[in-house]
Amino acid sequence: MMRNWLCQADVTIEIEPVDPVLVKSGYATLDGTDMVPVSTFRNGQQVYYLPGTSLKGVLRSHFERIARTLQPGSVCLPYHDPKRKLPVPVEAEKQSYGCGYRSREGNDTTAAVYADSCAACRQFGSLKFAGRFSIGDAYPAPKHEPTIESRNGVGIDRFTGGTVRGVLFDLQALVGGRFVAKIRLANFELWQLAGLKLLLDDFADEMIAVGSGRSRGLGRVRGVVKSFSLTYLRTASTPESLVGIGQLAGAQERASYRLHDWTPEPPIELPTAAVHGLRRRYDLDADWSQRLRTLVPAFEAFLQWHGGPQGNVSRQRTSA
Ligand SMILES: [Zn+2]
Repeated sequence: MMRNWLCQADVTIEIEPVDPVLVKSGYATLDGTDMVPVSTFRNGQQVYYLPGTSLKGVLRSHFERIARTLQPGSVCLPYHDPKRKLPVPVEAEKQSYGCGYRSREGNDTTAAVYADSCAACRQFGSLKFAGRFSIGDAYPAPKHEPTIESRNGVGIDRFTGGTVRGVLFDLQALVGGRFVAKIRLANFELWQLAGLKLLLDDFADEMIAVGSGRSRGLGRVRGVVKSFSLTYLRTASTPESLVGIGQLAGAQERASYRLHDWTPEPPIELPTAAVHGLRRRYDLDADWSQRLRTLVPAFEAFLQWHGGPQGNVSRQRTSA
């Protein structure tokens, strides 16, 4: 990604299960590769936590859903490899091969890959690069450990939807508790910060579910933002109002990475910065959602302007 570090957003989020969050026991199989809250030992005690990789997957899916709703075809199906057959039920998405399987002949530089990548791959990464968004493991806040309850389940046949005789399994459910996770969006474009805001708003509105059994209405969580800050490299052109990498990068980088040129009108003012060495940090804890309100149109504007996944798809089968 861009060689210079220019800006980042840091968010601390507290995740509160609204419904029980299911944990698969050692021998149960429920519904595929959904997130499994896992446990580890910390200071000699067993603690349950929500793995960051799984939270990232859940947030990416939600982000993709928002993008597809606003602009059909704007994001790829990340695991859709033209060389393999992935059953794609939606006709319009049959050509939505993953950005990681696309290329530009003779120009697979990071800049070209980024330029061609869809909104979701730019934000969360693809087989070719890491993306701008990261989230760590979510551990229980002190004195807010969840309780563990055992549940019984009945095996459901995937094809008929009926129960399967003799298949009974034990489940463990995490009930209550609060989990703390840290999110970072590095070198963001303004539409990416808008995308983060849309995710955080839906997190707060209990629109996001984690764990197994989500299709049965389990695993709903509420995500409450506890801190929100923006940090910029302290340069001569340090901004007084909100900017992203689209405004901070030079003209050449802006063109080669195909950065979106969009600024809110009127500009979004920033509070007084705290200076830490070479960095300036702006604390938006109290009013991030309200302050970033007028940034939201950047997201849809980007989707329309970018036009979805670009680059060539090779359909030749490799001899396996
Ligand atoms: Zn993509």
